Amino acid sequence: MQTSTSRSPAVSVADLRAAVRGRVIGPDDEGYDAARTVVSGGIDRHPAVIVRAAGADDVAHVVRLARDTGLELAVKSGGHSGAGHGTTEGGILLDVSEMKALDIDADGRTAWAESGLTAGEFTAAAAAHGLVVGFGDTGSVGIGGITLGGGIGYLVRKHGLTIDNLIAAEVVTADGELRSVDLETEPDLFWAIRGGGGNFGVATRFRFRLYELPGIVGGMLVLPATAETVAGFIAAAEAAPEELSTIANVMTAPPVPFLPPEVHGELVILGMLAWSGDPEAGERVIAPFRALAAPFADMVRPMGYHEMFPPDEADYHPLAIARTMFLDRVDRSVASTIFETLRAYDAPMRVAQLRVLGGAMARVPVHATAFAHRASRIMVSLAAFYEGPDDKADREAWVDAFAATLRQDDGGAYVNFLSDEGEAGVRAAYPGATWDRLVGIKRRYDPTNLFRLNQNVPPTKEPA
Ligand SMILES: Cc1cc2nc3c(=O)[nH]c(=O)nc-3n(C[C@H](O)[C@H](O)[C@H](O)COP(=O)(O)OP(=O)(O)OC[C@H]3O[C@@H](n4cnc5c(N)ncnc54)[C@H](O)[C@@H]3O)c2cc1C
Repeated sequence: MQTSTSRSPAVSVADLRAAVRGRVIGPDDEGYDAARTVVSGGIDRHPAVIVRAAGADDVAHVVRLARDTGLELAVKSGGHSGAGHGTTEGGILLDVSEMKALDIDADGRTAWAESGLTAGEFTAAAAAHGLVVGFGDTGSVGIGGITLGGGIGYLVRKHGLTIDNLIAAEVVTADGELRSVDLETEPDLFWAIRGGGGNFGVATRFRFRLYELPGIVGGMLVLPATAETVAGFIAAAEAAPEELSTIANVMTAPPVPFLPPEVHGELVILGMLAWSGDPEAGERVIAPFRALAAPFADMVRPMGYHEMFPPDEADYHPLAIARTMFLDRVDRSVASTIFETLRAYDAPMRVAQLRVLGGAMARVPVHATAFAHRASRIMVSLAAFYEGPDDKADREAWVDAFAATLRQDDGGAYVNFLSDEGEAGVRAAYPGATWDRLVGIKRRYDPTNLFRLNQNVPPTKEPA
């Protein structure tokens, strides 16, 4: 019989196995290394035990166990946390990724979805009914993490953030209770989980509002990057109706077969466009992007929305330094700074990702949810990939200096794109009154900070 390990005097793998329906994986079990791995590279933590929950009962059991033992609790859905919060050194890893039940009410245009589904899985299943809800730009991201932090994707301007279409959730709070949470029942908790991340409990299920969307005009448009094309791309994205959401990745071109070899390693705009309106009008709206320069690749075409999410490489664990911020404007001068800063550096993979916001997302009142950046105009993610300890510090210094150079008046940050910036990052994500209300709700629902392995809002902090 397997008993507790030297790393975990407080947890018996055998007892846990007897108590839960899902898989329990201890350090000596086959599959342990794969199960403790998260998407971010360079994160090598050893949980005392990993529980792949089979349902809300398992989740509640593990939450109580963490509370009773005092062990650190990591909660993992899709494993994409940039800080590696989906695993723990010596604690309990509660992995909900096998909880994938999905119940779509096509007539009522709603769905109950367990939190272990990925954005891609949900999107493909909803597409079978001609229905959508927006998550992000990557299919393998878990709906657990992306929803609780906000959710900014290809429908953000048309239908808002993911949380703007969250009608209800079921959440196991720190006391081990499974709570139904919506606008009428537990309204404070419902406010907090719409943007407050994993601070308030483990979400087992979400209920989303869905929209009919038979198809989009979308895909990738790769243009040469110059100050003019970057500024032009942002101007076209801002001028477009809100049916169009875009992502402009100003980056070194990867060595992919659809780009000519002479372009590999050069700066390009790898643009992603998604038009969720009338197809003919879409062609007209996308024309100004195509006119910016002769494209290196133009794969924008009518397609199903789910086709924006091709399968991701399963074993990809990039080492990257990333910073997130919002800008008020990317005019010719800012575009020039972005282009010249990228051009002057030597990291083989470096990127400034620009997303024009607004539309439906901006119409939600700023204090309606815990996502406080409704008025922010352009979300920017800066990143440099590194090889290892030898180049990490240099890459980090460059990304930090790049962010400092670009900074304008908007001091906010998107919680789901934070990595390990510490308290300053969390405070930027939750400014002013949002922070105060989150702290108060945290005190009520998680007074001992059981859910602390996240972009943490501690229950003890004084209001700002
Ligand atoms: C390649 C990539 C692309 C991305 N693109 C986008 C994008 O386009 N738009 C966007 O908005 N974001 C995007 N993100 C950010 C992403 O939303 C966050 O990293 C998110 O937290 C990942 O969720 P996850 O479930 O995959 O990660 P995990 O690491 O499993 O979870 C992250 C954290 O969320 C919390 N959490 C997860 N599941 C639960 C749950 N069921 N209950 C309670 N807490 C939970 C925990 O605190 C956990 O530490 C991207 C990230 C990556 C790596």
